[in-house]
Amino acid sequence: MEEKQQANIQSAVDDLFDDETMFLSELTKFPSTRGQEQCAQDFMAAELSARGYEVDRWQIDIDDIRHLPGFSPVIGKYDDAVNIVATHKSRTNTGHTLILNGHIDVVPEGPLGMWDTPPYEPRIDDGWMYGRGAGDMKAGLASNLFALDALRACGFSPAADVFIQSVVEEECTGNGALACLQRGYKADAALIPEPFAESLVTAQVGVLWFQVHLKGLPTHVAYAGSGSNAIEAAMPLIKALHKMEERWNADEKKHPQYAHVHHPLNLNVGKIEGGDWTSSVPAWCVFDVRVGLYPGQDKLAAKTEIEAVLNEAARENDFLRNNKPGITFQGFQAEGYVLAEDTSPTAIRAISTLENAHEAITGNTLDRLSITATTDARFFGLYADTPALVYGPRAEDIHGFNERVELESVRRVTQTTALFIAQWCGLEPI
Ligand code: ZN
Repeated sequence: MEEKQQANIQSAVDDLFDDETMFLSELTKFPSTRGQEQCAQDFMAAELSARGYEVDRWQIDIDDIRHLPGFSPVIGKYDDAVNIVATHKSRTNTGHTLILNGHIDVVPEGPLGMWDTPPYEPRIDDGWMYGRGAGDMKAGLASNLFALDALRACGFSPAADVFIQSVVEEECTGNGALACLQRGYKADAALIPEPFAESLVTAQVGVLWFQVHLKGLPTHVAYAGSGSNAIEAAMPLIKALHKMEERWNADEKKHPQYAHVHHPLNLNVGKIEGGDWTSSVPAWCVFDVRVGLYPGQDKLAAKTEIEAVLNEAARENDFLRNNKPGITFQGFQAEGYVLAEDTSPTAIRAISTLENAHEAITGNTLDRLSITATTDARFFGLYADTPALVYGPRAEDIHGFNERVELESVRRVTQTTALFIAQWCGLEPI
């Protein structure tokens, strides 16, 4: 690209950056946790329509996607699971098509008292914007949109079709991205600005969610010896799961992309409930677990091992021996994805286009990262033969208190994205 054009695009992002920051702040005000995404999606749809894009808004129907590879069983209802995809239609179609994807859902904020300021009242302090979802990943949704705005301000639009996606369900199943595939949205490459500090994610783990149901025998606590405590029974089972986790993380088990990563597969007990009354021996306990998987690790074998570990540990308990734990796999049933293993000319070209754009903006080479989490990239990469580039701004404490995103990083990612689009799709005069 000519230096002059690159400089023009870069300064167009600068000129619009106050608007972009304002947009991000507005978007972060929506508490778009699972089931509550509609208002944020309304806002996205209105912003996209105002820019003249054709906007497709639809409610996900599980029956449309349940048979597809990558589907994860749903928790709760889908009455309010709404996706938004805006389309830029090129007149010339001389370049490569592109999906700009981002998720609108955020994870629960946790106890409000642990936040320095309320999570849905975004504020800027010392160059960082604070708020639940500001980093993960509303900054990415803003960047996708304003990268295109900057090109437009220079008098250009992409010379290939571009699909701007705002999806739900990334944080629990990925079914939002899957529904976009099912609806027919395909492109030569996808870009997902998840907040990984301006590195390119070249490997991501798989993730399994499961729920363990334990029964107990209720008695008055005065005769606790004759009862069986379902809550306390959970403790040795959790310990056994962590032992399995250590086995999976042993050096000889590691996937090559994770050879240098200290502990790639994390097992987390994320929720626990049980019992009805302080002076009654609890008759029930339910706990929810998340565990990582290596790319290519056999999902079925992993599930079988989890069940065996839990049943083995349950045999040590007099009551559970005859009342086996119930194990349900729901939520994420995600496979790992390795962009680095995609040696197709399209993938190589997409990566080098991003490398060039990143170098032009930052002056640094593009770092590659194997992450210990999952993203929606797997749907494009594994099930649609579309290389998916995960590349976004620097954020901290995502899923924690005082989540924040660095605004200068958002600016650079927007500039890199604009250059990437210009190179990948090519440009045509408006
Ligand atoms: Zn995310």
